[in-house]
Parts: sequence; structure tokens; C-alpha cells
Amino acid sequence: MSDNNSEDEQLSNAASYDYSRDFIVEDSSASEDEQGNNQPSRRQRGMPFKETEGGRIILEVGQLFNNLNHFRVVLRDYVVQEGFELKRIKNDKDRYTAECAYEGCSWRIHASPIEDKTTFMIKILQPRHSCQKVHKNHEATAVWVARRFKALIEENLDIEAKFLRREIHRIYGLQLPPYTIYRAKHRVLNLTDNDHKKSYDQLHAYGYIVRRRNPGSMVLLHTLTPHIGAPSTFQRFFLSFQAQKEGFMFGCRPFIGVDGCHLKGKFPGVLLSAIAIDANNGVFPVAICICEGESKDSWSWFIDNLYRHIGMEDNRRMTFMSDKQKGVLLAIEKHWPRSSNRFCARHLAANMQR
Ligand SMILES: [Zn+2]
Repeated sequence: MSDNNSEDEQLSNAASYDYSRDFIVEDSSASEDEQGNNQPSRRQRGMPFKETEGGRIILEVGQLFNNLNHFRVVLRDYVVQEGFELKRIKNDKDRYTAECAYEGCSWRIHASPIEDKTTFMIKILQPRHSCQKVHKNHEATAVWVARRFKALIEENLDIEAKFLRREIHRIYGLQLPPYTIYRAKHRVLNLTDNDHKKSYDQLHAYGYIVRRRNPGSMVLLHTLTPHIGAPSTFQRFFLSFQAQKEGFMFGCRPFIGVDGCHLKGKFPGVLLSAIAIDANNGVFPVAICICEGESKDSWSWFIDNLYRHIGMEDNRRMTFMSDKQKGVLLAIEKHWPRSSNRFCARHLAANMQR
């Protein structure tokens, strides 16, 4: 991914490429071999690369690109469009050589600068594949999606990730993970890390609104202030709406499943959750907690608060199900009297297989 950033910086270059520069360049080094050795001069005409009307990319020997990055950006689009993976053999300012990553496939491209040392020209292209189209593509990153679908996202800021995902599948035949789409959308909307950071400042206000609008809900924010006057940092957050509590007490069996999962994204952490099973055997969310990690302390904080919120009113004998993590067991034993423990068979099986 090391060339992602530099590619990014150059995106504006590629986008603002002046297609009206439709002159013909004569390049005397056009007949070099892949090592960059010039063959006896044989003049070859080059022409600036242009996308076709429908945005389809057709690559040909002799096409010219502003610079190496412009070539890389176009090639990446081409690779996704054609549905194959790229194996880069040479990738520097003097030459770019790549082949189809599928072993034995004969597709191959080689480009290098012309006399001005900046403009890149396709010198060799073996366009035929002897492989199958792929439906996953490493080139189709969030950066790629953001660039390719920038206009669409900007026109419709509320565009649903689901819709975008379908569009990509329709046009390119690619099944991208939802997370890639989400990141691409945020990239276009220019939601920087700072916006994420700022959202932590709003947790107080959020908690206040939740409690005001949903009386009986439990919202807890646990912060850490290293010394007086220092800014406090986020530690944990607990949320359970009154409706979840009532739904659990009056519509679910006295059973609570607890588990933790790691959060992806800029600010990592762990999401602890408590779920129940309703009368239709559907999963019913009871409470969540975002915390620093799965530890004795964090589980204890979560279960203690869950008990204060629900357990103190719900006198049923509760059965907990967990993945047998020590922190969970201790926390339940300590904070939830009149409860018993079951272990999740799927977790047990997974642990046995390790
Ligand atoms: Zn191939």
C-alpha cells in the first residue's frame, strides 16, 4: 500500500489532465526493451491517453500519460475494469513493468518515460489473458472506490453504502466488503480523523439527550483525568435504552448472552454486548459497552452496570452464556447474585480446534 499516498496526492493531477493537449509526441526511445536499453532509433508516434465516452479504458502501445502516477492510476482502473490482479515487476520513475498475477497468464505491460523524462508511454503491451476474471480485486481499495465514485457520492451525500455496493457490483462485477465502501464514502465526504475525534466530545450531550428523551435509559460515560486541569480522555461508555430493559424483562427469557468484539477503525477498542432471546427465538439486544479491551476491570464495569440497570428490578434467576473468558465469569459471579453460567458451545468448539 506504500504507493497509495503518493497516488492520492497525484489524483488531482490525473483528474485535471488536459485532454485537449492532443499533440503527437515523437519519441525516439520508443523501441527500447524492458531493461531500458534503447534499440536502434525507430521513431514512434505517441498520443495522450483518453478514456472512452462511457469511461471504459482501452490501453494501447504508444499512449502517453502525464507522469508515472497518472499511468498508475489509469492502470489500476483498468485492472479493476478487466477483473484481474496485477503483479508489479518494476515500479519506479524509470520504468514500470507488470504482468497478470495469474500464473502462466501472458498479459503484460511495460511503460517508461519519453525524452522529457516525465511523460510516460506504454512501450509494450501483451493484451490477451489466458486466465479467468476475478470477483475480488486487491486494487479495488477504499481509495479506488472514493476516486471512481467521487462524483456520485458528492451529488448524493446521503447515498446508501448498500446502493453504492450494488453499483460497483453492476459495473465491475466486484463484491467489495461493506467496510471498504464505508471508508470510501467517508473519504469523499472528507470526514477526517478530526471529525471522529470531535465526536467523542459530543458523548456528554448525547447521553443527556438520550436520558431526557428516553427516561429510564442508562447512559454512562467513564473518562480519565490524569491530573486536575488536564483534559479528560475517553475510557468507557455504557448504553441501554429503557425500551431494551422493558423488552427484556417482559418479553424475553431470563437468559443473557455476553461477548466482546474488537472495533475496527481509527480508534480501536472493544464492544461488549449483552443480548437476549425473545419469544420468537430472535436475538434481542439488551445493552452495549465500548471500552478499552476485554479485561477483568472492563467486564466487571459492564456487568455491574447491567445489574444496576436491569438485575435490581428483574428478580428472575438469570442464566448467562459466555465464551468462558475469565473476566466475564468473575464479573458475573461478583455482580449478579442468583445467576448461573453456561458456556457457548460454538466458542468451546472453536477453542478446541486451535
Ligand atoms: Zn490474466
